[in-house]
Amino acid sequence: MTTTPIDPPLPWADGAYSIKRHGVSLTNCDSEPVQMPGCSQAQGVVLVLRVSDLTILQVSENSAAHLGLEPAQLLGKPIATVVAAEGERRLRECLEKEPIERNPIYVFTLPARAGAAALDLSLHTVDGLAVLECEPTAHETAAAPDYYSLVKKSITRMQAAQVLADFCRIATEEVRALTGLDRVMVYRFHADFHGEVVGESKRADLDPWLGLHYPATDIPRPAREVFKQIWVRPLPDAAAPVMELVPLINPDTHRSLTMTHCALRGASVMYTEYLKNMGAAASLTLSLLVDGELWGLVVCQHTTPRQFPYQVRAACEFVAQVASLQLRAVEQRESLAYRLQLEETHNRLVGQVAQDAGLSPMTLGKPNLLDAMDATGAAIFHSERWWSLGDTPSDAQLVNLKAWLEARPEFHSATRPVFATDSLVRDYPGGAAFSMIASGVLALPLARKKGGIVLWFRPETIQTVRWGGNPHEKPTVNGPHGLRLTPRKSFELFAESVKDRALPWKSVEIEAALRLRVLIMELVVSRADQLTELNVDLTRSNEELDAFAYVASHDLKEPLRGISKYAHQLLESAASADSETRRRLEGLTRLTLRMDTLMDSLLYFSRVGRATLQFQPVDLNEAVAEALEMVGARRQEVPTSILLPQPLPTVECDRMRVREIFVNLLANALKYNDRPQREIEIGWRADATRGPVFFVRDNGIGIEPRHFDLVFKIFKRLHGRDAFGGGSGAGLTIVQKLVEQHHGRVWLESTPGVGSTFYFTLGAPLPP
Ligand code: ADP
Repeated sequence: MTTTPIDPPLPWADGAYSIKRHGVSLTNCDSEPVQMPGCSQAQGVVLVLRVSDLTILQVSENSAAHLGLEPAQLLGKPIATVVAAEGERRLRECLEKEPIERNPIYVFTLPARAGAAALDLSLHTVDGLAVLECEPTAHETAAAPDYYSLVKKSITRMQAAQVLADFCRIATEEVRALTGLDRVMVYRFHADFHGEVVGESKRADLDPWLGLHYPATDIPRPAREVFKQIWVRPLPDAAAPVMELVPLINPDTHRSLTMTHCALRGASVMYTEYLKNMGAAASLTLSLLVDGELWGLVVCQHTTPRQFPYQVRAACEFVAQVASLQLRAVEQRESLAYRLQLEETHNRLVGQVAQDAGLSPMTLGKPNLLDAMDATGAAIFHSERWWSLGDTPSDAQLVNLKAWLEARPEFHSATRPVFATDSLVRDYPGGAAFSMIASGVLALPLARKKGGIVLWFRPETIQTVRWGGNPHEKPTVNGPHGLRLTPRKSFELFAESVKDRALPWKSVEIEAALRLRVLIMELVVSRADQLTELNVDLTRSNEELDAFAYVASHDLKEPLRGISKYAHQLLESAASADSETRRRLEGLTRLTLRMDTLMDSLLYFSRVGRATLQFQPVDLNEAVAEALEMVGARRQEVPTSILLPQPLPTVECDRMRVREIFVNLLANALKYNDRPQREIEIGWRADATRGPVFFVRDNGIGIEPRHFDLVFKIFKRLHGRDAFGGGSGAGLTIVQKLVEQHHGRVWLESTPGVGSTFYFTLGAPLPP
């Protein structure tokens, strides 16, 4: 709620504000001058004195009830009229010696007099005025508890707490022990100032409110400002009327009195009515401050009116101060413990990923991404697909979100590449479709180029929190201001305020996520290093293999020639030998011949591997024409049509080798074809990423898909040794080698009985 320029002027614009006279509405409650209410509470009296001569300048209208004198009998008189000369002397002494600027200090107790009970007097100064507060004393009733021992015990217990939840519970127990109130809660402000009950101690028969959330409007900004300046705010009787100061404007300062530090400050009707609607008659509120900011409140409530004597307030104030100091230490301890827990889980997660080739253990393993963060959904994009866990947007929604995130500057930060939001729709309208499950998004790019990404999701807060005024819970009575100050209305405001919003990501979570990213990236990089090493090894062993193949085939050819020669001689000289011996000798000759062919292929294959390439622009139409010429003999055997639907391009390559590729493919296309009319097509198509893709298509016998890899293995034939004109089974292996030397790829499509198409690329872009 904020005021805008078109709002009517505030009713207290003249400076003479009184909560008794001026109503506060929804539109102006954020501007309400709660520090200058112009009124005190009825259970005591406020006297405003001129510091120099202690003349009474203002007094609460109910002075007669406590002091036996009407305002008219007091105004302009010296304070000795109320406290006698001795009292005036003590007040003066206090003014001169004590640090009472904006800090009320108990001075003495005014004994009971005819028609007036004994009063505790406390004094502070503000805006150059002395403010004397008179409240019925607690001394004369029951013996005061030993507050010193109680506070000492409270502090010792609070110091022992290790985690925030324990600390808050102990704080409520101790404040309850000090005050004896029905319910004491620690109420923590979130970043948006909505509150959550994080600790509670209460009478056994009351409903628990622990864990409930309340909208920021329940404690509006002016009230929060006051709580930053005081430690204790007592309200002994929310139903009691407020007493206006007479006169309302101070005659010396010409202003309303600043009552921030007055224990007797009159309370806003917005507050008292809300308390009543919640079933509380009295309240005592302690501030919890961390680094000067309002961290939260200790909210104490009682179902019946209750006095809060000075001693109780002082003890509570001390506890609030110590608790505030302790809070930071406990929070730091807890945040450290949470960080360690996250890091430990992240280490185990990365340990798992390290065992696997991909990143899938992050969603499939244990622990997984959901164990690694306080979230309800997680997704990771890698290996060209999404892997999701828990409640996440659909893959299509993830694709769009990813594209949007990748365009964000945060994603390209060199030091902190992370995007975290508690309300995605605020920046990304597309998020509206899934804000129920993913209002909160924490996203990390995994690699800047490859598009890997990790995402965690949190649902809209309303889905996860218990709210303090759930309309389905017990209804409460509405006060005269109607629905506004009821839990039901409060719920609507709360629901509205957290629409499309998730609980925010803590900085320790964001830091831990960034660390996890570094770990994953290191893993990916070390894997890439390993791959490079493997490639180097592979290249080396390929070279060794080539060398071996050359030596083996070259050196073995010599003895083989000898064997072949002897076999021939034996065959010639054994003309008279029996037919069995002749048959064996003929077999030997045939085998040596075959071995010779195999060795030629091997020798050729090893040469292909060893020679360096001569790159130059080659008109492939010429290369194909030469290749067709070289397989010309086969073409004559059976009617054959050669189709070249469009001219081939000129590409940078090794002319001889590419011709060799075409020769092998064309030879096979002619060979493995039993049709009466053979049809062969040579063509190409452009491909943006791979460069031109060439193909040789035939209408031959085709190849079973399960043999697609096999045909590229050296000496592998799918047929009998002599079927289809025989062959060594090295042709396609050589094609593959030649293509790879050009950094290209070869593959095939084929249907048995219909035909085959062999594709290859040349000089395709190197893989990224
Ligand atoms: P080779 O032709 O010397 O046997 P290749 O390495 O060229 O050796 O071919 C390996 C095997 O792949 C061949 O034996 C044949 O079974 C099969 N093959 C090759 N090209 C074709 C084709 N166009 N159609 C059908 N089968 C083929």
